[in-house]
Amino acid sequence: MSLQSTSSPKPFLINGEWVSNATDTFDSVNPATGELNCPVSMANAHHVDAAVASAKTAAALPSWKGMLPHVRAQILMHMAALIVERGDELARLQMMENGKVWSECKAQAGSAAATFRYYAAVCETLGAEITPSRGNYLSMTSYEPYGVVAAITPWNSPLTMEAQKIAPALAAGNAVILKPSEVTPSAALLLGEIGLQAGLPPGILNVLTGNGAITGKALVEHPGVRMVSFTGGTASGRAIGMKAAERMIPVALELGGKSPHIVFEDANLEAAVKSIIDGIFEGSGQSCVAGSRLFVQRSVHDKLLDLLIARSKAIKLGQPDVAGSEMGPVSSFAHRARIEQFIESAIAEGGKVLLGGKRPEGAEFECGAYFLPTILGGLSNQATAVREEIFGPVLCVLPFDDEADLIAQANDSVFGLASGIWTANYQRAWRVARALETGLVWINTYKQLSISTPFGGFKDSGIGREKGVTGLRLYQQSKGIYWSMDPDNFPHAETPFGSA
Ligand code: NAD
Repeated sequence: MSLQSTSSPKPFLINGEWVSNATDTFDSVNPATGELNCPVSMANAHHVDAAVASAKTAAALPSWKGMLPHVRAQILMHMAALIVERGDELARLQMMENGKVWSECKAQAGSAAATFRYYAAVCETLGAEITPSRGNYLSMTSYEPYGVVAAITPWNSPLTMEAQKIAPALAAGNAVILKPSEVTPSAALLLGEIGLQAGLPPGILNVLTGNGAITGKALVEHPGVRMVSFTGGTASGRAIGMKAAERMIPVALELGGKSPHIVFEDANLEAAVKSIIDGIFEGSGQSCVAGSRLFVQRSVHDKLLDLLIARSKAIKLGQPDVAGSEMGPVSSFAHRARIEQFIESAIAEGGKVLLGGKRPEGAEFECGAYFLPTILGGLSNQATAVREEIFGPVLCVLPFDDEADLIAQANDSVFGLASGIWTANYQRAWRVARALETGLVWINTYKQLSISTPFGGFKDSGIGREKGVTGLRLYQQSKGIYWSMDPDNFPHAETPFGSA
Protein backbone atom coordinates (compact mmCIF):
# COMPACT_ATOMS: atom_id res chain seq x y z
CA MET A 1 0.00 0.00 0.00
CA SER A 2 1.22 3.54 -0.64
CA LEU A 3 -0.06 6.93 0.48
CA GLN A 4 -0.77 7.98 -3.10
CA SER A 5 -2.35 4.83 -4.52
CA THR A 6 -5.01 4.20 -1.89
CA SER A 7 -8.30 5.94 -2.25
CA SER A 8 -10.26 5.38 0.92
CA PRO A 9 -9.68 5.73 3.83
CA LYS A 10 -6.31 7.48 3.87
CA PRO A 11 -3.71 5.26 5.65
CA PHE A 12 -1.22 6.25 8.33
CA LEU A 13 2.46 5.38 8.56
CA ILE A 14 3.99 2.80 10.91
CA ASN A 15 7.49 1.39 10.47
CA GLY A 16 7.68 2.53 6.85
CA GLU A 17 4.39 0.79 5.95
CA TRP A 18 1.07 2.44 5.09
CA VAL A 19 -1.63 1.02 7.35
CA SER A 20 -5.35 1.52 6.87
CA ASN A 21 -8.12 1.21 9.45
CA ALA A 22 -11.33 0.74 7.49
CA THR A 23 -13.54 0.23 10.55
CA ASP A 24 -12.68 3.44 12.32
CA THR A 25 -12.32 6.62 10.29
CA PHE A 26 -12.85 10.36 10.46
CA ASP A 27 -13.51 12.91 7.75
CA SER A 28 -11.19 15.52 6.32
CA VAL A 29 -13.46 18.39 5.23
CA ASN A 30 -12.70 21.48 3.14
CA PRO A 31 -13.90 24.46 5.22
CA ALA A 32 -14.05 26.68 2.13
CA THR A 33 -16.73 24.55 0.49
CA GLY A 34 -18.04 22.17 3.14
CA GLU A 35 -17.11 19.27 0.84
CA LEU A 36 -15.50 16.04 1.98
CA ASN A 37 -11.82 15.81 1.06
CA CYS A 38 -11.47 12.16 2.09
CA PRO A 39 -12.06 9.78 4.97
CA VAL A 40 -8.95 9.17 7.06
CA SER A 41 -7.94 6.13 9.15
CA MET A 42 -8.09 6.59 12.91
CA ALA A 43 -5.15 5.13 14.81
CA ASN A 44 -6.21 3.36 18.02
CA ALA A 45 -4.24 2.14 21.04
CA HIS A 46 -3.03 -0.98 19.16
CA HIS A 47 -1.66 1.14 16.35
CA VAL A 48 0.02 3.38 18.91
CA ASP A 49 1.62 0.25 20.45
CA ALA A 50 2.93 -0.82 17.04
CA ALA A 51 4.22 2.66 16.20
CA VAL A 52 6.01 3.03 19.54
CA ALA A 53 7.55 -0.45 19.25
CA SER A 54 8.88 0.31 15.78
CA ALA A 55 10.17 3.73 16.83
CA LYS A 56 11.89 2.27 19.89
CA THR A 57 13.64 -0.39 17.83
CA ALA A 58 14.62 2.06 15.09
CA ALA A 59 15.93 4.65 17.56
CA ALA A 60 18.19 2.05 19.20
CA LEU A 61 19.71 0.74 15.96
CA PRO A 62 23.43 1.60 15.76
CA SER A 63 22.82 2.78 12.19
CA TRP A 64 20.59 5.58 13.57
CA LYS A 65 21.94 6.08 17.08
CA GLY A 66 25.53 6.16 15.94
CA MET A 67 24.89 8.00 12.69
CA LEU A 68 27.52 10.70 12.26
CA PRO A 69 26.12 14.23 12.41
CA HIS A 70 27.10 15.13 8.85
CA VAL A 71 25.30 12.02 7.54
CA ARG A 72 22.19 12.83 9.58
CA ALA A 73 22.41 16.40 8.28
CA GLN A 74 22.41 15.11 4.70
CA ILE A 75 19.09 13.32 5.26
CA LEU A 76 17.60 16.51 6.72
CA MET A 77 18.89 18.50 3.74
CA HIS A 78 17.36 15.93 1.43
CA MET A 79 14.04 16.35 3.24
CA ALA A 80 14.32 20.13 2.80
CA ALA A 81 14.90 19.69 -0.95
CA LEU A 82 11.93 17.33 -1.29
CA ILE A 83 9.69 19.74 0.64
CA VAL A 84 10.65 22.44 -1.85
CA GLU A 85 10.06 20.06 -4.78
CA ARG A 86 6.65 19.00 -3.42
CA GLY A 87 5.84 22.40 -1.93
CA ASP A 88 2.72 22.94 -4.04
CA GLU A 89 1.34 19.53 -3.04
CA LEU A 90 1.97 20.20 0.64
CA ALA A 91 0.50 23.70 0.48
CA ARG A 92 -2.60 22.48 -1.36
CA LEU A 93 -3.24 19.72 1.19
CA GLN A 94 -2.99 22.25 4.02
CA MET A 95 -5.21 24.77 2.22
CA MET A 96 -7.90 22.13 1.53
CA GLU A 97 -8.05 21.29 5.23
CA ASN A 98 -7.59 24.51 7.18
CA GLY A 99 -8.81 27.02 4.57
CA LYS A 100 -5.85 29.40 4.78
CA VAL A 101 -5.19 31.31 1.58
CA TRP A 102 -2.80 29.87 -1.00
CA SER A 103 -0.05 32.46 -0.48
CA GLU A 104 0.09 31.71 3.26
CA CYS A 105 0.10 27.94 2.71
CA LYS A 106 2.90 28.29 0.14
CA ALA A 107 4.90 30.45 2.53
CA GLN A 108 4.46 27.83 5.25
CA ALA A 109 5.71 25.06 2.96
CA GLY A 110 8.76 27.26 2.27
CA SER A 111 9.24 27.81 5.97
CA ALA A 112 9.07 24.04 6.62
CA ALA A 113 11.89 23.48 4.11
CA ALA A 114 13.93 26.28 5.71
CA THR A 115 13.48 24.65 9.11
CA PHE A 116 14.90 21.35 7.87
CA ARG A 117 17.85 23.19 6.29
CA TYR A 118 18.49 25.12 9.50
CA TYR A 119 18.48 22.00 11.70
CA ALA A 120 20.70 20.17 9.22
CA ALA A 121 23.23 22.96 9.78
CA VAL A 122 22.78 22.92 13.57
CA CYS A 123 23.11 19.12 13.61
CA GLU A 124 26.39 19.27 11.72
CA THR A 125 27.95 22.09 13.72
CA LEU A 126 26.69 21.77 17.30
CA GLY A 127 29.32 20.46 19.71
CA ALA A 128 29.40 19.06 23.21
CA GLU A 129 31.24 20.83 26.04
CA ILE A 130 34.27 20.45 28.21
CA THR A 131 33.32 22.06 31.50
CA PRO A 132 35.72 23.79 33.96
CA SER A 133 37.08 21.12 36.30
CA ARG A 134 37.89 21.50 40.02
CA GLY A 135 40.53 18.81 40.17
CA ASN A 136 42.73 16.54 38.15
CA TYR A 137 40.04 15.24 35.88
CA LEU A 138 38.30 16.10 32.68
CA SER A 139 34.61 16.94 32.96
CA MET A 140 32.38 16.97 29.94
CA THR A 141 28.76 17.39 29.01
CA SER A 142 27.39 15.22 26.24
CA TYR A 143 23.87 15.39 24.85
CA GLU A 144 21.81 12.33 24.12
CA PRO A 145 18.42 11.72 22.54
CA TYR A 146 15.40 10.65 24.59
CA GLY A 147 14.59 7.80 22.20
CA VAL A 148 10.93 8.01 21.19
CA VAL A 149 9.41 11.51 20.96
CA ALA A 150 5.69 12.14 20.43
CA ALA A 151 5.00 15.31 18.42
CA ILE A 152 1.39 16.50 18.62
CA THR A 153 0.33 19.42 16.43
CA PRO A 154 -2.64 21.77 15.86
CA TRP A 155 -4.51 22.61 12.66
CA ASN A 156 -3.74 26.29 12.26
CA SER A 157 -0.24 26.08 10.76
CA PRO A 158 0.47 22.36 10.50
CA LEU A 159 3.36 22.54 8.03
CA THR A 160 5.31 25.03 10.10
CA MET A 161 4.57 23.38 13.44
CA GLU A 162 5.35 19.88 12.20
CA ALA A 163 8.69 20.87 10.67
CA GLN A 164 9.53 22.78 13.85
CA LYS A 165 9.22 19.56 15.86
CA ILE A 166 10.34 16.81 13.45
CA ALA A 167 13.51 18.48 12.16
CA PRO A 168 15.17 19.22 15.54
CA ALA A 169 13.95 15.96 17.13
CA LEU A 170 15.50 13.93 14.29
CA ALA A 171 18.62 16.09 14.29
CA ALA A 172 18.93 15.29 18.00
CA GLY A 173 18.92 11.55 17.21
CA ASN A 174 15.39 10.57 18.26
CA ALA A 175 12.65 8.63 16.51
CA VAL A 176 9.44 10.65 16.16
CA ILE A 177 5.77 9.72 16.21
CA LEU A 178 3.87 12.62 14.70
CA LYS A 179 0.18 13.01 15.50
CA PRO A 180 -1.28 15.85 13.46
CA SER A 181 -4.61 17.48 14.24
CA GLU A 182 -7.68 15.54 13.11
CA VAL A 183 -8.62 18.71 11.17
CA THR A 184 -5.40 18.66 9.11
CA PRO A 185 -4.06 15.11 8.76
CA SER A 186 -2.94 15.14 5.12
CA ALA A 187 0.16 17.34 4.96
CA ALA A 188 1.67 15.37 7.87
CA LEU A 189 1.17 12.10 5.98
CA LEU A 190 2.95 13.57 2.99
CA LEU A 191 5.81 14.66 5.28
CA GLY A 192 6.01 11.01 6.39
CA GLU A 193 6.30 9.93 2.77
CA ILE A 194 8.96 12.58 2.15
CA GLY A 195 10.94 11.27 5.13
CA LEU A 196 11.01 7.77 3.64
CA GLN A 197 11.93 9.20 0.23
CA ALA A 198 14.80 11.13 1.83
CA GLY A 199 16.25 7.97 3.38
CA LEU A 200 14.95 7.95 6.96
CA PRO A 201 15.06 4.34 8.17
CA PRO A 202 11.58 2.77 8.71
CA GLY A 203 10.21 3.58 12.17
CA ILE A 204 12.24 6.76 12.62
CA LEU A 205 9.29 8.90 11.52
CA ASN A 206 5.86 7.37 12.09
CA VAL A 207 2.72 9.41 11.42
CA LEU A 208 -0.50 8.48 13.25
CA THR A 209 -3.74 10.19 12.33
CA GLY A 210 -6.62 10.44 14.77
CA ASN A 211 -8.16 12.64 17.43
CA GLY A 212 -6.85 13.76 20.79
CA ALA A 213 -9.15 11.60 22.91
CA ILE A 214 -8.09 8.31 21.31
CA THR A 215 -4.81 8.60 19.39
CA GLY A 216 -3.26 11.55 21.23
CA LYS A 217 -4.13 10.22 24.67
CA ALA A 218 -2.81 6.71 23.92
CA LEU A 219 0.43 8.24 22.69
CA VAL A 220 0.98 10.47 25.72
CA GLU A 221 0.21 7.59 28.09
CA HIS A 222 2.39 5.03 26.33
CA PRO A 223 5.36 3.95 28.49
CA GLY A 224 7.63 3.77 25.44
CA VAL A 225 7.21 7.48 24.67
CA ARG A 226 10.02 9.31 26.51
CA MET A 227 9.25 12.93 25.62
CA VAL A 228 6.20 14.84 24.36
CA SER A 229 6.35 17.98 22.25
CA PHE A 230 2.91 19.55 22.02
CA THR A 231 1.48 22.62 20.28
CA GLY A 232 -2.18 23.41 20.73
CA GLY A 233 -4.72 24.83 23.13
CA THR A 234 -3.96 25.56 26.79
CA ALA A 235 -6.59 23.11 28.12
CA SER A 236 -5.17 20.19 26.09
CA GLY A 237 -1.64 21.26 27.02
CA ARG A 238 -2.50 21.27 30.70
CA ALA A 239 -3.96 17.74 30.47
CA ILE A 240 -0.85 16.51 28.62
CA GLY A 241 1.46 18.27 31.07
CA MET A 242 -0.28 16.57 34.01
CA LYS A 243 0.05 13.15 32.40
CA ALA A 244 3.71 13.80 31.60
CA ALA A 245 4.35 14.82 35.23
CA GLU A 246 2.74 11.59 36.41
CA ARG A 247 4.93 9.61 34.01
CA MET A 248 7.99 11.73 34.89
CA ILE A 249 8.82 12.54 31.29
CA PRO A 250 9.77 15.94 29.87
CA VAL A 251 7.22 17.90 27.92
CA ALA A 252 7.39 21.01 25.74
CA LEU A 253 4.14 22.96 25.55
CA GLU A 254 3.47 25.70 22.97
CA LEU A 255 -0.01 26.92 23.89
CA GLY A 256 -2.56 29.64 23.34
CA GLY A 257 -2.28 33.42 23.50
CA LYS A 258 -4.17 36.69 23.82
CA SER A 259 -1.42 38.97 22.70
CA PRO A 260 -1.45 42.71 23.39
CA HIS A 261 -0.64 44.93 20.41
CA ILE A 262 0.16 48.40 21.75
CA VAL A 263 0.11 51.80 20.05
CA PHE A 264 1.53 54.88 21.78
CA GLU A 265 0.55 58.37 20.64
CA ASP A 266 3.97 59.04 19.05
CA ALA A 267 3.79 55.94 16.81
CA ASN A 268 3.84 55.88 13.04
CA LEU A 269 0.09 55.23 12.80
CA GLU A 270 0.11 54.30 9.11
CA ALA A 271 2.67 51.55 9.68
CA ALA A 272 0.97 50.46 12.89
CA VAL A 273 -2.42 50.05 11.20
CA LYS A 274 -0.98 47.81 8.50
CA SER A 275 0.73 45.68 11.10
CA ILE A 276 -2.35 45.50 13.36
CA ILE A 277 -4.43 44.25 10.42
CA ASP A 278 -1.87 41.61 9.43
CA GLY A 279 -1.41 40.72 13.08
CA ILE A 280 -5.05 39.81 13.63
CA PHE A 281 -6.70 39.13 10.27
CA GLU A 282 -3.99 37.15 8.44
CA GLY A 283 -5.02 33.50 8.54
CA SER A 284 -8.46 34.64 9.76
CA GLY A 285 -6.92 35.30 13.17
CA GLN A 286 -6.05 31.64 13.63
CA SER A 287 -2.54 32.28 14.79
CA CYS A 288 -1.24 31.67 18.30
CA VAL A 289 0.52 35.05 18.20
CA ALA A 290 -2.46 36.97 16.76
CA GLY A 291 -2.47 40.50 18.20
CA SER A 292 -6.03 40.14 19.47
CA ARG A 293 -6.01 42.81 22.22
CA LEU A 294 -5.27 46.23 20.75
CA PHE A 295 -4.29 48.86 23.33
CA VAL A 296 -4.30 52.41 21.94
CA GLN A 297 -3.25 55.53 23.83
CA ARG A 298 -6.42 57.57 24.35
CA SER A 299 -5.16 60.69 22.54
CA VAL A 300 -4.89 58.78 19.22
CA HIS A 301 -7.57 56.16 19.87
CA ASP A 302 -10.32 57.59 17.62
CA LYS A 303 -7.96 58.50 14.79
CA LEU A 304 -6.38 55.05 14.76
CA LEU A 305 -9.75 53.33 14.97
CA ASP A 306 -11.06 55.26 11.95
CA LEU A 307 -8.02 54.22 9.91
CA LEU A 308 -8.31 50.64 11.11
CA ILE A 309 -11.98 50.28 10.25
CA ALA A 310 -11.53 51.85 6.80
CA ARG A 311 -8.60 49.55 5.90
CA SER A 312 -10.15 46.41 7.40
CA LYS A 313 -13.30 46.95 5.34
CA ALA A 314 -11.14 46.59 2.23
CA ILE A 315 -9.82 43.11 3.14
CA LYS A 316 -10.67 40.75 0.30
CA LEU A 317 -12.49 37.75 1.71
CA GLY A 318 -12.65 34.83 -0.71
CA GLN A 319 -11.97 31.25 -1.65
CA PRO A 320 -8.45 30.40 -0.46
CA ASP A 321 -7.32 29.23 -3.89
CA VAL A 322 -8.55 32.31 -5.77
CA ALA A 323 -5.83 34.83 -6.59
CA GLY A 324 -6.24 38.02 -4.62
CA SER A 325 -8.09 36.43 -1.65
CA GLU A 326 -6.58 37.88 1.50
CA MET A 327 -8.70 36.02 4.04
CA GLY A 328 -10.31 32.58 3.68
CA PRO A 329 -12.81 30.80 5.91
CA VAL A 330 -12.07 29.71 9.47
CA SER A 331 -10.99 26.11 9.87
CA SER A 332 -14.36 24.45 10.49
CA PHE A 333 -18.05 25.12 10.93
CA ALA A 334 -17.83 24.18 14.63
CA HIS A 335 -15.04 26.71 15.07
CA ARG A 336 -17.12 29.45 13.42
CA ALA A 337 -20.02 28.65 15.79
CA ARG A 338 -17.62 29.09 18.73
CA ILE A 339 -16.48 32.48 17.38
CA GLU A 340 -20.12 33.55 17.06
CA GLN A 341 -20.69 32.70 20.72
CA PHE A 342 -17.86 35.06 21.65
CA ILE A 343 -19.51 37.87 19.67
CA GLU A 344 -22.78 37.24 21.53
CA SER A 345 -20.99 37.28 24.88
CA ALA A 346 -19.23 40.54 23.95
CA ILE A 347 -22.54 42.22 23.13
CA ALA A 348 -24.12 40.87 26.34
CA GLU A 349 -21.19 42.32 28.32
CA GLY A 350 -21.70 45.80 26.87
CA GLY A 351 -19.39 45.64 23.84
CA LYS A 352 -20.06 47.25 20.47
CA VAL A 353 -19.45 45.63 17.11
CA LEU A 354 -17.51 48.33 15.22
CA LEU A 355 -16.94 46.15 12.16
CA GLY A 356 -18.13 42.73 10.98
CA GLY A 357 -19.36 40.48 13.78
CA LYS A 358 -21.19 38.18 11.37
CA ARG A 359 -20.94 35.90 8.34
CA PRO A 360 -20.38 37.57 4.96
CA GLU A 361 -23.24 37.66 2.49
CA GLY A 362 -23.06 36.32 -1.06
CA ALA A 363 -23.35 33.05 -2.94
CA GLU A 364 -19.61 32.37 -2.86
CA PHE A 365 -19.65 32.27 0.94
CA GLU A 366 -22.77 30.17 1.48
CA CYS A 367 -21.16 26.73 1.67
CA GLY A 368 -17.98 27.65 3.56
CA ALA A 369 -17.14 28.57 7.17
CA TYR A 370 -16.54 32.27 6.49
CA PHE A 371 -16.60 35.06 9.06
CA LEU A 372 -16.05 38.77 8.50
CA PRO A 373 -13.07 40.67 9.93
CA THR A 374 -14.46 41.92 13.22
CA ILE A 375 -13.57 44.81 15.50
CA LEU A 376 -15.09 45.10 18.97
CA GLY A 377 -14.99 48.21 21.18
CA GLY A 378 -16.42 49.30 24.50
CA LEU A 379 -15.23 46.23 26.41
CA SER A 380 -13.20 46.16 29.59
CA ASN A 381 -10.06 44.05 29.94
CA GLN A 382 -12.18 41.71 32.09
CA ALA A 383 -14.75 40.86 29.38
CA THR A 384 -14.90 37.25 28.17
CA ALA A 385 -13.96 38.14 24.58
CA VAL A 386 -10.92 40.07 25.84
CA ARG A 387 -9.73 37.44 28.31
CA GLU A 388 -10.23 34.23 26.33
CA GLU A 389 -8.49 33.15 23.16
CA ILE A 390 -11.07 33.38 20.34
CA PHE A 391 -8.65 32.19 17.65
CA GLY A 392 -10.64 33.93 14.93
CA PRO A 393 -10.69 37.26 13.05
CA VAL A 394 -11.80 39.27 16.09
CA LEU A 395 -9.93 42.30 17.39
CA CYS A 396 -10.81 43.88 20.77
CA VAL A 397 -9.79 47.55 21.01
CA LEU A 398 -9.07 49.07 24.42
CA PRO A 399 -7.86 52.60 25.25
CA PHE A 400 -5.11 53.32 27.80
CA ASP A 401 -3.96 56.51 29.50
CA ASP A 402 -0.30 56.16 30.37
CA GLU A 403 2.54 53.65 30.43
CA ALA A 404 1.77 52.30 33.90
CA ASP A 405 -1.92 51.82 33.03
CA LEU A 406 -0.91 50.09 29.79
CA ILE A 407 1.52 47.66 31.42
CA ALA A 408 -0.98 46.74 34.13
CA GLN A 409 -3.71 46.04 31.56
CA ALA A 410 -1.47 44.23 29.08
CA ASN A 411 -0.08 41.92 31.76
CA ASP A 412 -3.49 41.26 33.28
CA SER A 413 -3.96 38.02 31.33
CA VAL A 414 -3.33 34.36 32.02
CA PHE A 415 -1.55 34.20 28.66
CA GLY A 416 1.94 35.47 27.85
CA LEU A 417 2.88 34.43 24.34
CA ALA A 418 3.62 37.59 22.33
CA SER A 419 3.20 41.36 22.27
CA GLY A 420 3.81 44.30 19.96
CA ILE A 421 4.78 47.91 20.72
CA TRP A 422 4.52 50.91 18.40
CA THR A 423 6.38 54.02 19.53
CA ALA A 424 9.01 56.45 18.26
CA ASN A 425 10.60 56.66 21.71
CA TYR A 426 13.36 54.05 21.90
CA GLN A 427 13.76 54.34 25.67
CA ARG A 428 10.07 53.67 26.19
CA ALA A 429 10.21 50.79 23.70
CA TRP A 430 12.96 49.17 25.76
CA ARG A 431 11.24 49.81 29.11
CA VAL A 432 7.89 48.45 27.98
CA ALA A 433 9.46 45.46 26.20
CA ARG A 434 11.18 44.49 29.45
CA ALA A 435 8.02 44.99 31.50
CA LEU A 436 5.69 42.89 29.33
CA GLU A 437 5.19 39.33 30.55
CA THR A 438 5.42 37.64 27.15
CA GLY A 439 7.88 35.23 25.56
CA LEU A 440 8.18 37.38 22.46
CA VAL A 441 8.06 41.16 21.92
CA TRP A 442 7.93 42.96 18.59
CA ILE A 443 8.93 46.63 18.46
CA ASN A 444 7.60 48.65 15.51
CA THR A 445 6.81 45.42 13.69
CA TYR A 446 4.64 42.38 14.31
CA LYS A 447 4.67 38.65 13.53
CA GLN A 448 8.23 38.70 12.21
CA LEU A 449 9.65 35.28 12.94
CA SER A 450 12.98 33.60 12.39
CA ILE A 451 13.84 29.94 12.84
CA SER A 452 17.03 30.95 14.66
CA THR A 453 15.26 32.82 17.48
CA PRO A 454 13.82 30.76 20.37
CA PHE A 455 10.03 30.87 20.53
CA GLY A 456 7.64 30.13 23.38
CA GLY A 457 5.37 31.58 25.99
CA PHE A 458 5.28 32.87 29.56
CA LYS A 459 2.47 31.89 31.98
CA ASP A 460 -0.33 29.73 30.52
CA SER A 461 1.12 30.12 27.02
CA GLY A 462 3.53 27.29 27.59
CA ILE A 463 6.69 25.69 28.84
CA GLY A 464 9.90 25.29 26.84
CA ARG A 465 11.28 27.02 23.77
CA GLU A 466 11.24 25.76 20.21
CA LYS A 467 13.43 27.04 17.35
CA GLY A 468 17.05 28.11 17.47
CA VAL A 469 19.87 25.97 18.83
CA THR A 470 17.90 25.47 22.05
CA GLY A 471 15.14 24.00 19.87
CA LEU A 472 17.45 21.04 19.18
CA ARG A 473 18.57 20.74 22.81
CA LEU A 474 14.87 20.46 23.72
CA TYR A 475 15.03 16.92 22.31
CA GLN A 476 18.17 15.86 24.17
CA GLN A 477 19.14 15.12 27.74
CA SER A 478 22.52 16.19 29.02
CA LYS A 479 24.97 13.76 30.58
CA GLY A 480 27.92 14.82 32.75
CA ILE A 481 31.02 12.67 32.31
CA TYR A 482 34.03 12.82 34.68
CA TRP A 483 37.28 11.25 33.54
CA SER A 484 40.10 11.06 36.04
CA MET A 485 43.60 12.04 34.92
CA ASP A 486 45.04 10.57 38.13
CA PRO A 487 43.09 7.43 39.10
CA ASP A 488 45.16 6.92 42.29
CA ASN A 489 44.04 10.19 43.83
CA PHE A 490 40.34 10.75 44.17
CA PRO A 491 39.32 14.36 43.90
CA HIS A 492 37.45 14.24 47.21
CA ALA A 493 40.81 13.55 48.89
CA GLU A 494 41.46 17.25 48.36
CA THR A 495 38.31 18.36 50.18
CA PRO A 496 38.07 19.35 53.83
CA PHE A 497 36.02 16.20 54.50
CA GLY A 498 38.94 13.79 54.73
CA SER A 499 41.43 11.83 52.69
CA ALA A 500 40.97 8.79 50.50
P1 NAD B 1 -6.09 21.43 20.44
O1 NAD B 1 -5.45 21.58 21.77
O2 NAD B 1 -7.54 21.16 20.40
O3 NAD B 1 -5.41 20.23 19.63
C1 NAD B 1 -4.03 20.22 19.32
C2 NAD B 1 -3.58 18.80 19.09
O4 NAD B 1 -3.65 18.08 20.32
C3 NAD B 1 -4.44 18.00 18.11
O5 NAD B 1 -3.60 17.15 17.38
C4 NAD B 1 -5.36 17.20 19.04
O6 NAD B 1 -5.87 16.03 18.44
C5 NAD B 1 -4.42 16.89 20.17
N1 NAD B 1 -5.02 16.66 21.50
C6 NAD B 1 -6.07 17.31 22.05
N2 NAD B 1 -6.26 16.84 23.32
C7 NAD B 1 -5.31 15.91 23.55
C8 NAD B 1 -4.98 15.07 24.68
N3 NAD B 1 -5.66 15.12 25.82
N4 NAD B 1 -3.93 14.26 24.58
C9 NAD B 1 -3.19 14.22 23.44
N5 NAD B 1 -3.46 14.95 22.34
C10 NAD B 1 -4.50 15.80 22.41
O7 NAD B 1 -5.69 22.72 19.62
P2 NAD B 1 -6.17 23.16 18.17
O8 NAD B 1 -7.58 23.62 18.26
O9 NAD B 1 -5.82 22.10 17.19
O10 NAD B 1 -5.20 24.39 17.87
C11 NAD B 1 -5.46 25.68 18.26
C12 NAD B 1 -4.66 26.04 19.50
O11 NAD B 1 -3.27 25.85 19.27
C13 NAD B 1 -4.82 27.49 19.88
O12 NAD B 1 -5.01 27.59 21.26
C14 NAD B 1 -3.49 28.11 19.49
O13 NAD B 1 -3.14 29.26 20.20
C15 NAD B 1 -2.56 26.98 19.75
N6 NAD B 1 -1.30 27.16 19.03
C16 NAD B 1 -0.18 27.51 19.74
C17 NAD B 1 1.02 27.74 19.08
C18 NAD B 1 2.28 28.13 19.82
O14 NAD B 1 3.35 27.99 19.25
N7 NAD B 1 2.21 28.60 21.05
C19 NAD B 1 1.07 27.60 17.69
C20 NAD B 1 -0.08 27.25 17.01
C21 NAD B 1 -1.26 27.03 17.70
